[in-house]
Amino acid sequence: MTTFTHTFDTAVFKKVISFPTGIFIDNKFSHGSNKTTIDLVNPTTGRVVAEVSEGTPTDIDRAVAAARRAFNTTWGLNTPGSRRGQLLMKLADLMAANIDELAALDAFNSGKPFHAARDGDCVDAIGCIRYYGGWADKNHGKTIETTEMKLAYTRHEPIGVCGQIIPWNYPLMMLTWKIAPALATGCTVVLKPSEFTPLTALRMAQLILEAGFPPGVVNIVTGYGDTVGQAISQHKDIDKVAFTGSTTVGRKILEASSRSNLKNVTLELGGKSPNIVFDDADLEQAAQWTTRGVFTNAGQSCCATTRVFVQEGVYDKFLEELTKRTLEIKLGDPFEHDTNQGPQVSQIQYDRVMGYISSGKEQGATVHVGGTRHGDIGYWIQPTIFTNVSSEMQIVREEIFGPVGVVIKFKDEDDIVRLANDTLYGLAACLFSRDITRALETAHRLQAGTVWINCSQLTGTETPFGGYKQSGIGRELGEYALVNYTNVKAVHVNLGRVM
Ligand code: NAD
Repeated sequence: MTTFTHTFDTAVFKKVISFPTGIFIDNKFSHGSNKTTIDLVNPTTGRVVAEVSEGTPTDIDRAVAAARRAFNTTWGLNTPGSRRGQLLMKLADLMAANIDELAALDAFNSGKPFHAARDGDCVDAIGCIRYYGGWADKNHGKTIETTEMKLAYTRHEPIGVCGQIIPWNYPLMMLTWKIAPALATGCTVVLKPSEFTPLTALRMAQLILEAGFPPGVVNIVTGYGDTVGQAISQHKDIDKVAFTGSTTVGRKILEASSRSNLKNVTLELGGKSPNIVFDDADLEQAAQWTTRGVFTNAGQSCCATTRVFVQEGVYDKFLEELTKRTLEIKLGDPFEHDTNQGPQVSQIQYDRVMGYISSGKEQGATVHVGGTRHGDIGYWIQPTIFTNVSSEMQIVREEIFGPVGVVIKFKDEDDIVRLANDTLYGLAACLFSRDITRALETAHRLQAGTVWINCSQLTGTETPFGGYKQSGIGRELGEYALVNYTNVKAVHVNLGRVM
């Protein structure tokens, strides 16, 4: 079987890391059924640096069988919530003890800066496991008043075997957002990481084993979307699929569910979120948050607020502030101390983003900042701002998923609500104003699952996250995510008299 071994000897992290990169089923690593592998490329150099097993639909069958067995014996309704909570807490402790290693793997594999991976993604991921560890023995049903002759109550039962498919932009965080509520409620899991970024998922498999989860509770199958991903979404013995990724693939998941067993589906999809700067905003603050909203994670964020709308009277001043901050973003090696932006994750994404930049130029927009590649190797793209755009341009309408924002003027509240909502998506929005009434009235009129007022990109494990319109179905995080993984059963008890 393949292993990953790498000597990290960098400014911020020094250690030799080595672990198996087979598929993880029933608490054991093994080859995929046809013994082929997937090459992993380091996006900072464009060179192949590791290989992992390529799973197959046959491996998914094996993983589902293991997950079903565990659900019916050692997990599900057979394990008290308190025990599930203890195991999640233990897993969180192990992650905290290995936080630098997890951050290094995400940085190495996806190109995000090490310090952002550690202080952002890993801290969030550990908090998420702990948060749902706390919920594991608290997700109770209700006693419901009906008549004096009847007792009625509900039970929140685990939905069963869950397929979970995640993308490459936040590899560890997305894994925890998926497995934590599933395990807390008593579900078992077959998870597929992105074929571009499977390393932290495989390291997590080791920690899951070490924490003491019974075999089959968590199974991780690396592989491609159109084989392993599709096998999950059309499997007849998977009860639910939770997916994060593109809207295009989200549609395929729903179709596969309807063609197979009508499994429950939740989808976290794309976005093209608005960033609104009113004329009474603190412009320096607004510019700082906007820079973060557009360029965090090299723009590879589903809730990136890349349509920047600025009220006419402050347009020039705000653009000046935004330009200053954009030019301060330091591109560089993810393992340097002061790097703010690493490369795009892959050649495919690099080409896709550069294609959008070219389309903006061809369609007549002005490149105000950036607009070209950075460096000679790897997949870096300069933070880019377009001005003089119009609403039908591709760079205004489509999700770019790279460090590219467009800046657009607006007149008043009605104008901005119309412009902001003029999109297929509805994942997030942010707005800046010192007028609380104006801020709240606008927030309530925006079609978005998250609205940030005088900030951007903040998520919290306790707070739901998900989309309106074509940004998805269902909510992750918070108490809301528990609903995704439970079936509610109503029990009616006749208290002995004829009704
Ligand atoms: P993607 O849809 O191409 O891939 C996501 C996952 O789906 C990967 O694991 C991939 O292998 C798998 N997949 C691909 N084809 C499949 C198929 N036919 N059946 C089943 N699975 C399949 O997306 P990506 O390029 O990895 O990620 C970028 C997209 O994800 C962006 O559109 C972004 O907005 C979205 N995203 C959304 C959120 C959110 O919370 N809403 C978070 C992160 C990313």
